[in-house]
Amino acid sequence: MQIDDSKFGSRNKRGDWKPYKLSSNIPFFDWPFSITKNLKWLLGIPGYIIPWTFFYGLIAVILWVYFTPPIETLKNFHFNWFFYLLVRNLIITIICAGGLHFFLYIKKTQGNSFKFNAKGMEKNNKNFYFKDQTLDNIFWTLCSGVPIWTAYEAFSLWAFANGYFLGLEWSMHPIYLGLTFLFLPLFREVHFYFVHRLLHIPLLYNFSHYIHHKNVNPGPWSGIAMHWFEHILYFSGTLIHFIIPAHPVHAVFQLLHAGIGPLFHGHIGFEKIQIGKIGIDTHSHAHYLHHKYFECNYADGAIPLDKFFGTFHNGSDESQEKMVERYKIRMKKMRST
Ligand SMILES: [Zn+2]
Ligand SMILES: [Zn+2]
Repeated sequence: MQIDDSKFGSRNKRGDWKPYKLSSNIPFFDWPFSITKNLKWLLGIPGYIIPWTFFYGLIAVILWVYFTPPIETLKNFHFNWFFYLLVRNLIITIICAGGLHFFLYIKKTQGNSFKFNAKGMEKNNKNFYFKDQTLDNIFWTLCSGVPIWTAYEAFSLWAFANGYFLGLEWSMHPIYLGLTFLFLPLFREVHFYFVHRLLHIPLLYNFSHYIHHKNVNPGPWSGIAMHWFEHILYFSGTLIHFIIPAHPVHAVFQLLHAGIGPLFHGHIGFEKIQIGKIGIDTHSHAHYLHHKYFECNYADGAIPLDKFFGTFHNGSDESQEKMVERYKIRMKKMRST
Protein backbone atom coordinates (compact mmCIF):
# COMPACT_ATOMS: atom_id res chain seq x y z
CA MET A 1 0.00 0.00 0.00
CA GLN A 2 1.31 3.42 -0.96
CA ILE A 3 1.38 6.33 1.46
CA ASP A 4 -0.85 9.18 0.26
CA ASP A 5 1.64 11.93 -0.68
CA SER A 6 -1.12 14.56 -1.03
CA LYS A 7 -1.19 14.81 2.78
CA PHE A 8 2.41 16.00 2.75
CA GLY A 9 2.59 18.14 -0.39
CA SER A 10 1.01 19.19 -3.66
CA ARG A 11 1.41 18.13 -7.29
CA ASN A 12 1.28 20.51 -10.26
CA LYS A 13 -0.10 19.89 -13.76
CA ARG A 14 3.22 18.45 -14.94
CA GLY A 15 3.03 15.88 -12.16
CA ASP A 16 5.90 17.42 -10.12
CA TRP A 17 5.41 17.07 -6.38
CA LYS A 18 6.59 19.49 -3.69
CA PRO A 19 6.29 19.24 0.08
CA TYR A 20 4.21 21.77 2.02
CA LYS A 21 7.25 22.47 4.18
CA LEU A 22 10.96 21.73 4.10
CA SER A 23 12.61 19.52 6.72
CA SER A 24 13.16 21.59 9.84
CA ASN A 25 16.54 22.96 10.84
CA ILE A 26 18.08 22.35 14.24
CA PRO A 27 15.94 24.44 16.67
CA PHE A 28 19.14 25.50 18.45
CA PHE A 29 19.08 28.74 16.41
CA ASP A 30 15.39 29.48 16.96
CA TRP A 31 14.27 32.19 19.35
CA PRO A 32 13.03 31.83 22.09
CA PHE A 33 15.35 28.92 22.84
CA SER A 34 13.53 25.72 23.82
CA ILE A 35 15.33 22.80 25.48
CA THR A 36 12.33 20.51 24.80
CA LYS A 37 12.35 21.26 21.07
CA ASN A 38 16.10 20.70 20.86
CA LEU A 39 15.92 17.39 22.72
CA LYS A 40 13.06 16.30 20.49
CA TRP A 41 15.08 17.24 17.39
CA LEU A 42 18.06 15.26 18.71
CA LEU A 43 16.42 12.23 20.32
CA GLY A 44 12.96 12.05 18.69
CA ILE A 45 12.08 9.31 16.21
CA PRO A 46 12.57 10.43 13.53
CA GLY A 47 15.23 12.86 14.76
CA TYR A 48 18.85 13.78 14.19
CA ILE A 49 20.20 10.46 15.50
CA ILE A 50 17.51 8.07 14.30
CA PRO A 51 17.37 7.04 11.56
CA TRP A 52 20.16 8.56 9.50
CA THR A 53 23.10 9.33 11.83
CA PHE A 54 22.65 5.91 13.44
CA PHE A 55 22.49 4.26 10.00
CA TYR A 56 25.82 5.77 8.84
CA GLY A 57 27.40 5.24 12.29
CA LEU A 58 26.45 1.57 12.35
CA ILE A 59 27.83 0.91 8.86
CA ALA A 60 31.04 2.80 9.76
CA VAL A 61 31.55 0.70 12.91
CA ILE A 62 30.95 -2.53 10.94
CA LEU A 63 33.43 -1.37 8.28
CA TRP A 64 36.03 -0.44 10.88
CA VAL A 65 35.69 -3.67 12.90
CA TYR A 66 35.28 -6.20 10.07
CA PHE A 67 36.40 -4.58 6.81
CA THR A 68 39.41 -2.40 7.62
CA PRO A 69 42.97 -3.74 7.96
CA PRO A 70 44.41 -3.73 11.54
CA ILE A 71 46.11 -0.56 12.74
CA GLU A 72 49.60 -2.18 12.65
CA THR A 73 49.12 -2.85 8.92
CA LEU A 74 47.94 0.72 8.33
CA LYS A 75 51.21 2.11 9.72
CA ASN A 76 52.95 1.37 6.44
CA PHE A 77 51.22 2.37 3.26
CA HIS A 78 50.85 -0.53 0.87
CA PHE A 79 48.96 -0.71 -2.40
CA ASN A 80 47.35 -4.04 -1.33
CA TRP A 81 45.35 -2.53 1.51
CA PHE A 82 44.55 0.59 -0.50
CA PHE A 83 43.12 -1.68 -3.20
CA TYR A 84 41.15 -3.63 -0.57
CA LEU A 85 39.56 -0.38 0.71
CA LEU A 86 38.84 0.73 -2.86
CA VAL A 87 37.00 -2.49 -3.70
CA ARG A 88 35.11 -2.34 -0.37
CA ASN A 89 33.97 1.27 -1.09
CA LEU A 90 33.06 0.44 -4.68
CA ILE A 91 30.86 -2.42 -3.46
CA ILE A 92 29.11 -0.19 -0.86
CA THR A 93 28.47 2.51 -3.47
CA ILE A 94 27.18 0.09 -6.09
CA ILE A 95 24.86 -1.54 -3.54
CA CYS A 96 23.48 1.81 -2.29
CA ALA A 97 23.21 3.83 -5.53
CA GLY A 98 22.45 0.79 -7.66
CA GLY A 99 19.86 -0.47 -5.18
CA LEU A 100 18.07 2.90 -4.93
CA HIS A 101 18.15 3.33 -8.71
CA PHE A 102 16.89 -0.22 -9.28
CA PHE A 103 13.95 -0.03 -6.88
CA LEU A 104 12.92 3.61 -7.38
CA TYR A 105 13.70 4.20 -11.07
CA ILE A 106 13.56 0.77 -12.75
CA LYS A 107 11.11 -1.27 -10.66
CA LYS A 108 9.38 2.01 -9.60
CA THR A 109 8.28 0.44 -6.34
CA GLN A 110 6.57 3.63 -5.16
CA GLY A 111 5.69 5.07 -8.58
CA ASN A 112 5.87 8.87 -8.53
CA SER A 113 4.78 9.10 -4.91
CA PHE A 114 6.83 11.87 -3.20
CA LYS A 115 8.81 12.39 -6.45
CA PHE A 116 9.84 16.00 -7.09
CA ASN A 117 10.14 15.74 -10.85
CA ALA A 118 7.71 13.51 -12.71
CA LYS A 119 10.36 12.71 -15.33
CA GLY A 120 12.94 9.95 -15.01
CA MET A 121 16.65 10.09 -15.84
CA GLU A 122 17.71 11.67 -19.16
CA LYS A 123 18.48 9.49 -22.14
CA ASN A 124 19.69 10.57 -25.59
CA ASN A 125 20.96 13.84 -24.17
CA LYS A 126 24.29 15.06 -25.56
CA ASN A 127 25.09 16.93 -22.33
CA PHE A 128 25.93 13.63 -20.69
CA TYR A 129 28.75 11.18 -21.38
CA PHE A 130 27.39 8.22 -23.38
CA LYS A 131 24.32 10.50 -23.97
CA ASP A 132 22.85 8.92 -20.82
CA GLN A 133 22.49 10.64 -17.45
CA THR A 134 22.75 7.46 -15.38
CA LEU A 135 25.83 6.13 -17.21
CA ASP A 136 27.49 9.57 -17.01
CA ASN A 137 26.78 9.68 -13.26
CA ILE A 138 28.08 6.12 -12.76
CA PHE A 139 31.29 7.06 -14.60
CA TRP A 140 32.07 10.08 -12.38
CA THR A 141 31.03 8.24 -9.21
CA LEU A 142 33.03 5.06 -9.70
CA CYS A 143 36.03 6.40 -11.66
CA SER A 144 36.66 9.59 -9.67
CA GLY A 145 34.42 9.79 -6.56
CA VAL A 146 35.12 6.45 -4.93
CA PRO A 147 38.91 6.44 -5.69
CA ILE A 148 39.33 9.95 -4.19
CA TRP A 149 37.15 9.03 -1.16
CA THR A 150 39.38 5.95 -0.71
CA ALA A 151 42.58 8.00 -1.09
CA TYR A 152 41.42 10.29 1.75
CA GLU A 153 40.44 7.25 3.82
CA ALA A 154 43.81 5.54 3.27
CA PHE A 155 45.64 8.76 4.14
CA SER A 156 43.49 9.33 7.26
CA LEU A 157 43.97 5.77 8.56
CA TRP A 158 47.71 5.97 7.89
CA ALA A 159 47.83 9.40 9.65
CA PHE A 160 45.99 8.02 12.71
CA ALA A 161 48.24 4.94 12.79
CA ASN A 162 51.36 7.12 12.73
CA GLY A 163 50.18 9.86 15.10
CA TYR A 164 49.90 12.64 12.49
CA PHE A 165 46.15 12.76 13.21
CA LEU A 166 45.22 13.16 16.87
CA GLY A 167 44.03 9.72 17.99
CA LEU A 168 42.23 8.79 21.24
CA GLU A 169 41.38 5.43 22.85
CA TRP A 170 37.72 4.44 23.36
CA SER A 171 38.51 3.06 26.83
CA MET A 172 39.83 6.48 27.96
CA HIS A 173 37.36 8.85 26.20
CA PRO A 174 34.09 6.98 25.47
CA ILE A 175 31.75 9.99 25.86
CA TYR A 176 33.85 12.39 23.79
CA LEU A 177 34.34 9.82 21.03
CA GLY A 178 30.63 8.92 21.07
CA LEU A 179 29.66 12.59 20.75
CA THR A 180 32.11 12.97 17.85
CA PHE A 181 29.71 10.82 15.77
CA LEU A 182 27.06 13.51 16.37
CA PHE A 183 29.39 16.42 15.69
CA LEU A 184 30.86 15.24 12.38
CA PRO A 185 27.70 15.43 10.20
CA LEU A 186 27.17 19.02 11.41
CA PHE A 187 30.80 19.86 10.72
CA ARG A 188 30.44 18.28 7.28
CA GLU A 189 27.52 20.52 6.55
CA VAL A 190 29.49 23.70 7.33
CA HIS A 191 32.48 22.39 5.36
CA PHE A 192 30.22 21.53 2.41
CA TYR A 193 28.54 24.93 2.47
CA PHE A 194 31.80 26.85 2.11
CA VAL A 195 33.35 24.42 -0.40
CA HIS A 196 30.12 24.66 -2.40
CA ARG A 197 30.10 28.48 -2.38
CA LEU A 198 33.68 28.38 -3.60
CA LEU A 199 32.73 25.99 -6.42
CA HIS A 200 30.09 28.46 -7.62
CA ILE A 201 32.79 31.08 -8.38
CA PRO A 202 32.59 31.19 -12.22
CA LEU A 203 36.19 30.01 -12.76
CA LEU A 204 35.80 26.91 -10.56
CA TYR A 205 32.25 26.32 -11.71
CA ASN A 206 33.27 26.22 -15.37
CA PHE A 207 36.28 24.03 -14.59
CA SER A 208 34.59 21.50 -12.34
CA HIS A 209 31.22 22.03 -10.62
CA TYR A 210 29.27 22.20 -13.91
CA ILE A 211 29.66 18.39 -14.15
CA HIS A 212 27.52 17.93 -11.04
CA HIS A 213 25.01 20.54 -12.23
CA LYS A 214 24.37 18.82 -15.52
CA ASN A 215 21.90 16.94 -13.30
CA VAL A 216 19.02 19.43 -13.23
CA ASN A 217 16.79 16.54 -12.20
CA PRO A 218 19.14 14.37 -10.11
CA GLY A 219 18.82 10.70 -9.19
CA PRO A 220 20.68 8.46 -6.70
CA TRP A 221 23.71 8.07 -8.97
CA SER A 222 24.03 11.89 -9.21
CA GLY A 223 25.00 12.17 -5.52
CA ILE A 224 28.77 12.15 -5.95
CA ALA A 225 28.82 12.47 -9.75
CA MET A 226 31.37 15.29 -9.66
CA HIS A 227 34.57 16.36 -11.39
CA TRP A 228 37.78 15.09 -9.73
CA PHE A 229 38.70 18.61 -8.56
CA GLU A 230 35.38 18.90 -6.73
CA HIS A 231 35.94 15.47 -5.15
CA ILE A 232 39.31 16.63 -3.81
CA LEU A 233 37.65 19.57 -2.03
CA TYR A 234 34.46 17.71 -1.14
CA PHE A 235 36.12 14.82 0.74
CA SER A 236 38.77 17.02 2.44
CA GLY A 237 36.74 17.42 5.66
CA THR A 238 38.52 14.43 7.19
CA LEU A 239 41.69 16.55 7.44
CA ILE A 240 39.99 18.17 10.46
CA HIS A 241 41.65 15.42 12.54
CA PHE A 242 44.95 17.24 12.24
CA ILE A 243 43.43 19.48 14.92
CA ILE A 244 40.34 17.67 16.33
CA PRO A 245 41.17 14.45 18.23
CA ALA A 246 39.14 11.38 17.31
CA HIS A 247 39.45 7.67 16.50
CA PRO A 248 40.13 6.12 13.06
CA VAL A 249 36.48 4.93 12.96
CA HIS A 250 35.50 8.61 12.70
CA ALA A 251 37.48 9.02 9.48
CA VAL A 252 35.70 5.93 8.11
CA PHE A 253 32.39 7.44 9.30
CA GLN A 254 32.89 10.94 7.93
CA LEU A 255 34.03 9.69 4.52
CA LEU A 256 31.22 7.15 4.35
CA HIS A 257 28.76 9.92 5.24
CA ALA A 258 30.21 12.07 2.44
CA GLY A 259 30.41 9.12 0.04
CA ILE A 260 26.97 7.57 0.30
CA GLY A 261 25.02 10.32 2.11
CA PRO A 262 24.27 12.27 -1.10
CA LEU A 263 22.83 9.14 -2.70
CA PHE A 264 20.12 9.02 -0.03
CA HIS A 265 19.70 12.77 0.50
CA GLY A 266 19.45 15.68 -1.89
CA HIS A 267 19.74 13.68 -5.11
CA ILE A 268 17.45 10.68 -4.66
CA GLY A 269 14.55 12.61 -6.27
CA PHE A 270 11.99 11.59 -3.63
CA GLU A 271 11.17 13.34 -0.33
CA LYS A 272 10.26 10.03 1.30
CA ILE A 273 11.27 6.49 0.55
CA GLN A 274 8.64 3.99 1.43
CA ILE A 275 9.61 0.75 3.15
CA GLY A 276 6.46 -1.22 3.81
CA LYS A 277 4.02 1.17 5.46
CA ILE A 278 6.79 3.45 6.74
CA GLY A 279 7.90 6.57 4.84
CA ILE A 280 11.46 7.59 5.66
CA ASP A 281 12.24 11.25 5.15
CA THR A 282 15.24 11.85 2.87
CA HIS A 283 15.43 15.65 3.52
CA SER A 284 16.03 16.14 -0.19
CA HIS A 285 13.83 19.00 -1.36
CA ALA A 286 16.23 21.85 -0.48
CA HIS A 287 19.09 20.39 -2.51
CA TYR A 288 16.71 19.41 -5.30
CA LEU A 289 15.86 23.13 -5.52
CA HIS A 290 19.59 23.90 -5.71
CA HIS A 291 19.86 21.66 -8.77
CA LYS A 292 16.70 23.14 -10.26
CA TYR A 293 17.34 26.85 -9.59
CA PHE A 294 21.10 26.89 -9.03
CA GLU A 295 21.45 30.14 -7.00
CA CYS A 296 20.08 28.92 -3.68
CA ASN A 297 20.34 26.29 -0.90
CA TYR A 298 24.10 25.70 -0.94
CA ALA A 299 23.69 23.68 2.28
CA ASP A 300 20.72 21.43 2.83
CA GLY A 301 20.57 19.99 6.28
CA ALA A 302 20.37 20.77 9.94
CA ILE A 303 22.23 24.08 10.22
CA PRO A 304 20.33 27.02 8.64
CA LEU A 305 23.40 28.38 6.82
CA ASP A 306 21.38 29.48 3.80
CA LYS A 307 19.04 31.43 6.06
CA PHE A 308 22.08 33.12 7.69
CA PHE A 309 23.58 34.05 4.32
CA GLY A 310 20.35 34.95 2.54
CA THR A 311 20.45 32.11 0.00
CA PHE A 312 17.54 30.07 1.33
CA HIS A 313 14.76 28.91 -1.02
CA ASN A 314 11.76 26.98 0.32
CA GLY A 315 10.13 26.35 -3.05
CA SER A 316 7.63 29.24 -2.71
CA ASP A 317 7.00 32.06 -5.23
CA GLU A 318 8.31 34.52 -2.65
CA SER A 319 11.67 32.66 -2.38
CA GLN A 320 11.81 32.53 -6.17
CA GLU A 321 11.37 36.32 -6.47
CA LYS A 322 14.08 36.93 -3.87
CA MET A 323 16.46 34.60 -5.72
CA VAL A 324 15.81 36.32 -9.07
CA GLU A 325 16.45 39.68 -7.37
CA ARG A 326 19.79 38.43 -5.96
CA TYR A 327 20.73 37.16 -9.41
CA LYS A 328 19.96 40.52 -11.05
CA ILE A 329 22.07 42.39 -8.46
CA ARG A 330 24.97 39.99 -9.01
CA MET A 331 24.75 40.37 -12.80
CA LYS A 332 24.69 44.18 -12.43
CA LYS A 333 27.81 44.08 -10.23
CA MET A 334 29.59 41.77 -12.68
CA ARG A 335 28.82 44.09 -15.61
CA SER A 336 30.04 47.17 -13.76
CA THR A 337 33.42 45.59 -12.86
ZN1 LIG B 1 26.09 23.75 -6.81
ZN1 LIG C 1 23.97 18.05 -5.73
